Amino acid sequence: VRSVFDPTALQAQMLALRASGKRIGFVPTMGLLHRGHTSLMKVARPLCDHLVVSIYVNPLQFGPGEDLDRYPRDPDGDAQKCRDAGVDTLFLPPDLYHPDHATHVNVSGLTGCLCGAHRPGHFEGVTTVVARLFGIIQPSLAVFGEKDFQQLAVIRRMTRDLAMPVEVLGAPLVRDEDGVALSSRNAFLTAEQRVRARTLHQALYAMRSANFKGETDRTRLLDLGRSCLDADAIDYLEILHPHTLEPLNPVTGPSRAFGAAHYGRTRLIDNISLSDDS
Ligand code: AMP
Repeated sequence: VRSVFDPTALQAQMLALRASGKRIGFVPTMGLLHRGHTSLMKVARPLCDHLVVSIYVNPLQFGPGEDLDRYPRDPDGDAQKCRDAGVDTLFLPPDLYHPDHATHVNVSGLTGCLCGAHRPGHFEGVTTVVARLFGIIQPSLAVFGEKDFQQLAVIRRMTRDLAMPVEVLGAPLVRDEDGVALSSRNAFLTAEQRVRARTLHQALYAMRSANFKGETDRTRLLDLGRSCLDADAIDYLEILHPHTLEPLNPVTGPSRAFGAAHYGRTRLIDNISLSDDS
């Protein structure tokens, strides 16, 4: 794997690759890579000729008081994981924006709920950085995890609405052995918090199995989830349509349960489908 630091140099290389008919695959990340990230690389690898992974902790998507200044990093471990995954180019921009950067991409509607409601400006930061990364890397396809289900929906909408020539692929959420969704932020959890963090996916699974057994009342399902969830604070517990992200009642047909909870200073998110057996 080859590291590139300069956006302008990378864009010139990628334009040349594209001109020679190569398909570029792209996996954007914020680093401290784990099996969730490498699962995205596994999806992309056979579908492209040249695989680019970016590691950039994007200040635009962090709000005041969030964990931008302490976001965990492991450059050597990340490079090794990219090597093992067959990544061709690792893009490590020290900075990504011009000092007078003035353009922001905003997807309305889909960003009004869940994390969009609890982290003002977050998704505008995400879509702005992804649009800029797409401009630099010129990927034919990009892979995003269902761990950040709302982010995937927002990026699909952005690429469709702006006619970006990128195929956006979603990959399933990957869990640790105790069921907790893999996240770079899990590194912050104390042992005690980690045990309680299991109740986040347990709450979602409880709603799922009640729904499978025939409970379709939204309030009763959410009450059940809340009764399972042990957290220092709950941002949301929701059941929404997976495409429109609109609340569902009764909970029938395509549906997905979402949760976000705080353990100390660490905020975790998780989601599962209620409408299939996968
Ligand atoms: P991040 O480094 O947290 O910005 O995540 C980069 C990409 O990896 C995003 O598309 C995430 O959805 C994805 N990702 C992170 N954790 C997981 C996971 N546990 N399972 C699947 N994808 C994940």
